[in-house]
Amino acid sequence: MVAEVVKESEAEAKPKAEKQTNCLACNKLIKKLKHYYRNGKFYCSKKCWRAFIDKSKLDEKK
Ligand SMILES: [Zn+2]
Repeated sequence: MVAEVVKESEAEAKPKAEKQTNCLACNKLIKKLKHYYRNGKFYCSKKCWRAFIDKSKLDEKK
């Protein structure tokens, strides 16, 4: 089976769905070994996760 083989031209034409690589709170690049995963999103630390939750809560109250 060669189903996994993708033609080069095909790969270029399709825009790759980018993986989330930046912290949602501080927008820092998240390194593989050091990330905090919550609710399907990545943050660089627990602190940033809390910050993002607090921020989104404030936005909801508007
Ligand atoms: Zn962060």
